[in-house]
Amino acid sequence: MSIHLLDEETILKIAAGEVIENPASVVKELVENALDANATSITIETKNGGKSLIRVSDNGVGIPAEELDLAFMRHATSKVESYEDLFSIDTMGFRGEALASIRAVSSVTVLSKREADAVGHFVKFSDPDEPLRQSIAHNTGTTMIVEDLFGKIPVRAGFLKSALAESNRVTDLIYRFAVANPEVSFKYLKDEKIILRTSGTSAQSAIAELFGPDVSEKLMAVNFRYEKLQIRGWIGKTSLYRGNRGMQYTFVNQRVVSEPMLTQIIEQEYSARIPHGRYPIFFIWVEVDPGAIDVNIHPTKQKVQWVEDTIFLPVKDMIRKALNEESDLNLLIEKKEPEPPERVNLYTMTEYKAMKSQKQATPIEHIAEKQLPYVEKREEVRKPAFSNLKTPTVSEQLPIEMPQSIQKEEPKSLFANLRYMGTFSKTYLLFEDPLTSEMVMIDQHAAHERILFESLTTGMDTENIQTQMLLVPQNLRVKAHEKESLMRNRALLESLGFIAEPLGEDHFVIRGIPYQFGRLQSPQALFYSVLDTLEQEHNLSQRDLKELLIKKACTLAVKSGDLLNEVSVDRLIELLSKATQPHTCPHGRPTYIRMPLKSIHKWFQRIPS
Ligand code: ADP
Ligand code: MG
Repeated sequence: MSIHLLDEETILKIAAGEVIENPASVVKELVENALDANATSITIETKNGGKSLIRVSDNGVGIPAEELDLAFMRHATSKVESYEDLFSIDTMGFRGEALASIRAVSSVTVLSKREADAVGHFVKFSDPDEPLRQSIAHNTGTTMIVEDLFGKIPVRAGFLKSALAESNRVTDLIYRFAVANPEVSFKYLKDEKIILRTSGTSAQSAIAELFGPDVSEKLMAVNFRYEKLQIRGWIGKTSLYRGNRGMQYTFVNQRVVSEPMLTQIIEQEYSARIPHGRYPIFFIWVEVDPGAIDVNIHPTKQKVQWVEDTIFLPVKDMIRKALNEESDLNLLIEKKEPEPPERVNLYTMTEYKAMKSQKQATPIEHIAEKQLPYVEKREEVRKPAFSNLKTPTVSEQLPIEMPQSIQKEEPKSLFANLRYMGTFSKTYLLFEDPLTSEMVMIDQHAAHERILFESLTTGMDTENIQTQMLLVPQNLRVKAHEKESLMRNRALLESLGFIAEPLGEDHFVIRGIPYQFGRLQSPQALFYSVLDTLEQEHNLSQRDLKELLIKKACTLAVKSGDLLNEVSVDRLIELLSKATQPHTCPHGRPTYIRMPLKSIHKWFQRIPS
């Protein structure tokens, strides 16, 4: 064969192969064009996995009648004028290749009308015939119809997978678009059945609409800014994971990208916290100055080049912080089931006052005390925050001496060198401190109570109160008198960070709860607690209610019998060592004791007593 120039048609088909691989790549290009046209509503329809039909309609700006042909020519674009523009791309498309490529491998029809046009226009390109043109009635916006994909190129058609496999790809992609662009309303019909629909309001509602409350209620917000880079989104709690990466969403400047590096960093942070072989769920939006990334590296623009080092550490930190916060307050144990949204009994005001005047111990104190075989002997009992509830029992007979180190206050190095050995009686965490030759026992419940207590009290400082807005507002059924008492106490509740409003006759909708509690209790359970308290006492002060809630929340600390994993144990001692009062729980009982090797030697009569 002698050398000759390829004809235009062949060149186009070769190039098309780079951009259009399958129905999903057609959908991707058409939806990106709709987004670039500022559409706020996009409907996608497919038949036979997209092999027979793909229709994408938008309400964007439309294409002028005289440019309809041009749009389907190679290198025709309205988005870039010069090479320099490539370095500040803020649109999805810019190469002007997609429509030309789609046209080369299918039969394609466009219908479009601009706001200013009286009528819309229709052009059907179906080689080798002349395009068919018509004026038509059409809403402002554009509809692209792609039929018979690769029909003209049987070799390529042969590479397509089954309709099911192709449509799975399309579905996955549309989910990604719908999450990436929550302010756009998406609708997707597959073989005439509605598969998904979003309202186009917020990321929260899109996630809830697409994945339901099982997912949306178990997400934690993450957010950080680093120079010209902003990363924000939601990551799943550690109780939420999947068998594959299908629920990992990363977007760079709203672009749906696969970002292996980001994925890897996030997965690493989860690795010790979720079962092996499972994958975390996350939705991460990266916004970066378009000048700082290179989107021009591949025609399908699925990968974005960026300076990995810049974000590696900050992202790691951000994820770890969120996960730590989760385990701090909520998941020190692998809870079997999430808390059911049932009513929880809160202390009545009378009980509470009784406790305050030291006359009555709470049941939990009884239990915990019985299980506490050794109580350290101390000269001076530091005043715990709930000091008026109970003072610690001091037992004289126990052969345990207080090591020197504990009497000096050294919160930083308190548990610095501990080596975890295991758990005794499902209650006491046992450690070896090789530096001081001591055995350290930590009461997991007391320690966790102290941590919760401090985090809640700081979080509930009147200055500090923050509201956590719920991803999905919760409707709560209330009785008439409950509603009345909620209405009466609305200002009080708001002052503590609750955002709730009446809804119809017998419902309240909770939109926000105090931030610290959001990590700890289901919003309903928390709200019912409040409701019960308000019912029992009519003139609660903000302080009383706050204290009651904190007290109640502290009882959610891990109990004896709860099995902690090693990550949680590490975290527990780390947090306890940072507490301002690490030595006692809020009721004044010790959180840990240290047993010098010398005492143990004495018990075994290795050295004389
Ligand atoms: P690119 O998106 O890279 O510019 P395309 O081949 O995808 O190239 O599209 C060519 C041009 O057609 C776009 O630049 C745009 O002006 C116009 N266009 C395509 N789809 C739409 C749409 N849905 N609404 C408005 N204009 C569109
Ligand atoms: Mg495009």
